[in-house]
Amino acid sequence: MKTNVFISGGGIGGLTLGLKLAQCNIDVTVVERLPGPSSIYKGELLQPKSLEIFQSLGVIEKVFENGHSITDLELIELKSTKSSAENSTMSYSILPSDYPFSLMIHHETLKEILREKGERYPSFHYKANTVCQKINGHTVIIEDRDTKHQQEIECDFIVGAEGRSSVTRDYMDIQVKEKKYNHHFLTVTFPRPKDMVKGRIVSTYQSFLGLFPLPNDEVRSVYLIPAGEYKSLRKKPISEFHKLYIEMCPDLDGYVNQIKDWKQIQLMVPLKYHAEKYVMDHLALIGDAVHTVHPMAGEGMNMAIQDGSILGELLCDMYEENKLNPVNLEWYPKVRKSRVAHQMHLSHLSALVYSYPYRPVGWLRNKSLQRMERDSISQFKQMLNISGLGMWRETLYDRMVQGGVLPIRTKPLSIEDKRKTTFTKEQDYPWKGKEVLQ
Ligand SMILES: Cc1cc2nc3c(=O)[nH]c(=O)nc-3n(C[C@H](O)[C@H](O)[C@H](O)COP(=O)(O)OP(=O)(O)OC[C@H]3O[C@@H](n4cnc5c(N)ncnc54)[C@H](O)[C@@H]3O)c2cc1C
Repeated sequence: MKTNVFISGGGIGGLTLGLKLAQCNIDVTVVERLPGPSSIYKGELLQPKSLEIFQSLGVIEKVFENGHSITDLELIELKSTKSSAENSTMSYSILPSDYPFSLMIHHETLKEILREKGERYPSFHYKANTVCQKINGHTVIIEDRDTKHQQEIECDFIVGAEGRSSVTRDYMDIQVKEKKYNHHFLTVTFPRPKDMVKGRIVSTYQSFLGLFPLPNDEVRSVYLIPAGEYKSLRKKPISEFHKLYIEMCPDLDGYVNQIKDWKQIQLMVPLKYHAEKYVMDHLALIGDAVHTVHPMAGEGMNMAIQDGSILGELLCDMYEENKLNPVNLEWYPKVRKSRVAHQMHLSHLSALVYSYPYRPVGWLRNKSLQRMERDSISQFKQMLNISGLGMWRETLYDRMVQGGVLPIRTKPLSIEDKRKTTFTKEQDYPWKGKEVLQ
């Protein structure tokens, strides 16, 4: 069998890329190890840039139909679980986008939307329950997991989109160095009160609960626990788990209690790594195969979508201009690598802010979040950077404002100033319109 682009892994990244290529009439084969939907929790929060990408891929209506939009994130710091709260709000509404909000959608629903759209194009081939077993030059060996039947596929390009454990990355002999954190998360979805429509992060100096409303009156929750505490927690009755949530957010009484068994609750172990190389000859890596990020800023899935979109556009242009020299793939990390590094840095900082269970840390976090909310530039930078729409690095000056050393800047940014900070077409696709492809 022959295909132009072989994608190993039909997760969000692989499917975004596959759909993009099929829309350019490129013959693309996506193989996915799993036979069908997975029950394991993965990212569900779509940032504005991902929504713009889904608009360009013609799936945004379906995404909206199946999602819950979140404009505001409420950050609530409790002095203790029984005392009054101090709040701040970070809002997507300040962003210069047609989609100034994030959106929660079930991970498997999103995959289904992308796959179904892809299957409308004759050049899109999706094989479930099939493993990419071996790569040898331009040949890939795939195996049906039931029949054990093996098949060779010849292709021009191979993309590793297998997530954290990547056959393609191994073949490219690229090593990644994992950084672990001093905390883990418990995560579970359960029914929510109807009026819980905003994102909410509730913290004390020693605990953290994130609540992200899903459609159909459900909420995804993440609760921070010290690394290694999961086993002993699971030995306690499930009512102890309910108590932890209700202490942090009394609105959940009567809702979280609907979780009847620890088995419904997933342990999430945050990791971070960033591979040195994204491409080698005719091979490229996208998504978690090349970078994994702490989930605190809700970026992992979005980074995979953004990788798929940039690499997809590049491959479309290479085929359209018949410039198939693999050296052209280098444009992809040129665009993506620094953006990924910056988002990883932000996620890492957000993780550190909640990592140390000491009162002064909680106090400092609360003060600086409140100042960040009131400082027009800090809030805009934070929302812009996590949205994926642009990149505006924080400076020492910003940190000093947030720390209370310098005064808060209240003058709002003009729409022109804001637009200047978002990625332009030239920054997203620097090879376009120039004689640079070979
Ligand atoms: C518990 C958890 C919570 C997360 N929370 C968030 C969040 O809140 N927000 C966010 O943005 N991100 C979150 N993430 C990260 C996000 O899920 C990932 O960054 C995103 O799914 C990466 O997409 P991907 O397509 O690169 O990889 P994956 O989603 O991992 O997809 C890879 C696919 O490849 C398949 N595969 C693997 N090996 C092979 C093979 N040899 N042959 C064929 N198929 C193969 C796998 O079965 C899988 O379906 C979370 C991740 C985890 C694990």
